Amino acid sequence: MTEIKKRFHAIKDNIRLIEQESGRTPGSVTLLAVSKTWPAEKLRLVAEEGQQCFGENYLQEALEKMDALADLDLEWHFIGPIQSNKTRDIAARFDWAQSVDRLKIARRLNQQRPDSLPPLNVCIQVNIDEEDTKSGVTADKVLPLAEAISELDRLTLRGLMVIPARHSEELAQRDSFKRAQDLFNSLQQRFKGIDTLSMGMTGDLNAAIAEGSTMVRIGTALFGQRDTRQA
Ligand SMILES: *Cc1c(COP(=O)(O)O)cnc(C)c1O
Repeated sequence: MTEIKKRFHAIKDNIRLIEQESGRTPGSVTLLAVSKTWPAEKLRLVAEEGQQCFGENYLQEALEKMDALADLDLEWHFIGPIQSNKTRDIAARFDWAQSVDRLKIARRLNQQRPDSLPPLNVCIQVNIDEEDTKSGVTADKVLPLAEAISELDRLTLRGLMVIPARHSEELAQRDSFKRAQDLFNSLQQRFKGIDTLSMGMTGDLNAAIAEGSTMVRIGTALFGQRDTRQA
């Protein structure tokens, strides 16, 4: 078995183990394979092991991989910053947009989602630690934005996507994730169909799962270290 395939199974096992240790329902955490910078052949290897959901940050690169893998039944999640000039392709080609943080972008995605496709699944990206360098809305802006998105009939609001401040200590990581979970709970109380709390990456998935993540976005642990000159 190739290295990537072995790593894939190790990650799946690890997720199940952390679910168990944190008292989460078995199978309640989905794996999103974050494949930015990696060529289509690598994604195919992971898909052969049963992985269906892939996350991409760069539009052009993603479209090329979608074409190369058109023979597979994959689910594509856009997780990078969304500028206005990208919404048409995202609306037409992706199943999910996890990085929505402005009403203007949500409205464009709604307008541009083809009628032949089901509504686009969206998450609101939250800048949970209010870092200047990160995109995403602050916690106080989540409910008003969710209210407005819920009015758009070509979008289905599914939940939140969170990238916390970088901490190596698990306790500090958990503090950010805990606040995200509180926000997620209030969103769930207010709207129907909210089922996705997308948080946890290679360096912090244990903390994220312990604090209620339903989807971890894993790149490095699965595909290896990215070439940052490319990224
Ligand atoms: C790159 C990226 C990831 C994956 O990060 P790793 O540390 O490589 O697992 C997850 N989420 C987002 C939004 C990313 O841009």
